[in-house]
Amino acid sequence: MIRDKVKLANKTGLNTRSAKEMNEVYQGVPVSKGIVIGKVYKYLKEELIIEDYPISEEEVLTELEKLEEARQRANRFLKEIKEKAASELGSEETKIFDAHISMLNDPVVYGEMKDLIKKEKINAGAAVKKAIQRITDKFSRMDNEYFKERIKDIQDVGNHLLRALTGEITSLQNLPEDSIILAEDLTPSEIALIDKDRLKGLILSKGGKTSHTVIMARGLMLPVIVNVEGILDKVGHGERVILDALSGEIVVEPDRELLDKYREKINKYYRRQQKLFRLKDKSATTIDGFTIGLSANIGTDEELRGVLEVNSEGIGLFRSEFLYMNTEELPDEEKQFKVYREVVEEMAGKPVIIRTLDTGGDKGLPGLELPDELNPFLGWRAIRISLERRDIFKTQLKALLRARYYGNLKIMFPLISSLEELREAKRILKEVKGELDRAGIPYDPDIEVGMMVEVPAAAILADIFAREVDFFSIGTNDLIQYIVAVDRTNDKIANLNTPYHPAVLRVIKEVVEAAYRAGIWVGICGEAGGDSLLTPFFIGLGVNELSMSVGAILEIKDVVRQLKREECKGIVEDVLKLSTAEEVKEYLTEVRKKKSYEI
Ligand code: PEP
Ligand code: MG
Repeated sequence: MIRDKVKLANKTGLNTRSAKEMNEVYQGVPVSKGIVIGKVYKYLKEELIIEDYPISEEEVLTELEKLEEARQRANRFLKEIKEKAASELGSEETKIFDAHISMLNDPVVYGEMKDLIKKEKINAGAAVKKAIQRITDKFSRMDNEYFKERIKDIQDVGNHLLRALTGEITSLQNLPEDSIILAEDLTPSEIALIDKDRLKGLILSKGGKTSHTVIMARGLMLPVIVNVEGILDKVGHGERVILDALSGEIVVEPDRELLDKYREKINKYYRRQQKLFRLKDKSATTIDGFTIGLSANIGTDEELRGVLEVNSEGIGLFRSEFLYMNTEELPDEEKQFKVYREVVEEMAGKPVIIRTLDTGGDKGLPGLELPDELNPFLGWRAIRISLERRDIFKTQLKALLRARYYGNLKIMFPLISSLEELREAKRILKEVKGELDRAGIPYDPDIEVGMMVEVPAAAILADIFAREVDFFSIGTNDLIQYIVAVDRTNDKIANLNTPYHPAVLRVIKEVVEAAYRAGIWVGICGEAGGDSLLTPFFIGLGVNELSMSVGAILEIKDVVRQLKREECKGIVEDVLKLSTAEEVKEYLTEVRKKKSYEI
């Protein structure tokens, strides 16, 4: 007897907007750039209601068989959508489906479902729900964005299984032309099912910046706005909207005048993108001949494609902790070596700065238990962990040294706050070199070693640190949070988290000057490095490199090429006389207006 039931409740609002409600604007967070005009395809997920009920001993076998059949059906379904995604997006983008397939067949997860049927004597649907709930609870207890995002994946897998149990599947196929999907959130498999020729963009009332859905959408160059409050109840199916994923605005039922204005903005945006792409082989040199390096920040080797496409001059920050994030066990030397080697080989001699493990704070790892701390950002984090867990640190250093043999790799230590830490890290590096020597493994003994300047203590003592490293990379994300005392993850005080704070800019100036005096190279790899308002300030200071997300590189290059270093020096002087972040921002905005360079 099949008692699992599905209730379909795909509610779509009607277009009942009156003329006076035209041009209504909603604000969200743009996470994948672009501007498009289209019609809302409101997608409220079908509510899947599965009854839970006890079963008798005799029914156990039947429920186990039902579960097994469902697993096989869900497997076939996932393989199909994976192939569909591969043909539309390329094989790189299908890794998420491999992950879903392996989650679906994971012996622990599947074993738990079977155990629940056998031991708790509950039906297959109830067992699937319970097992998925347990994993979800476990992931949400981890204080880690990565695992929070993975909750959606595991729930997605659970839903496939439940739908397979009931014989239902979700569909987002047959969208009308020029659809802009409006949903609470979407799963990667839902994105894969959509006919991309008809899809123009996504508006998600929730959504996360690092979710796989957003990553896939970026790969598809689909404009996306997330975290749009109140929109789901107010905007109906079929309504015309402008999705401006540059400003984060959504205009509902725009009138003719506004439509014309946005059409112009759209044309301008695409003309600009084409123009920017032509800069990819040009250097970031000011009108008066000052050249600044522009490099990419990456977290995984998968991001290399974009780096190569814009012909980035190097990788200014490889956040190696991402390598440790999707495995239950810490990656061994061989696994790390392979990734580092691939990255430096692909970059073909261009510099690649790999930062040693920076976990703790807001980044936990499945393979390393972190203590519960009252102030994790002030706690056991980054180099502090590496210096205590030497096994982990030495494994990483060995892999890095070995990979140096294949390309221009440099090592960087995060969160250095005292000279003792830096010296100890370097001493361990020396120890590892000795071990490689004894084992006869080739590496470059002169590998460059740098440090992040992201703790005020290190910034204040920059002249002292500069004597003991080959380079500095200023991490503005942490530097701001520690100078201004503003938790970088706390939305409530996000207004205080600004790179324009005069205290932050003064500290940056001191660090750059200390580097100059010591004759070492200095870069900026925090988010401020990709902020075009600050580019004249950094040029004026004479920063050697700005490292940023790949998408910002050509835009910043364009700005650099319209500046004069001599004028930028004056901008630095002016900025440093200002007293508030507001004044600095206003001043830099004025500079941009006066120079009238496009952004
Ligand atoms: C920084 O703190 O600015 C930085 C680049 O490192 P992360 O954002 O990884 O802490
Ligand atoms: Mg940092």
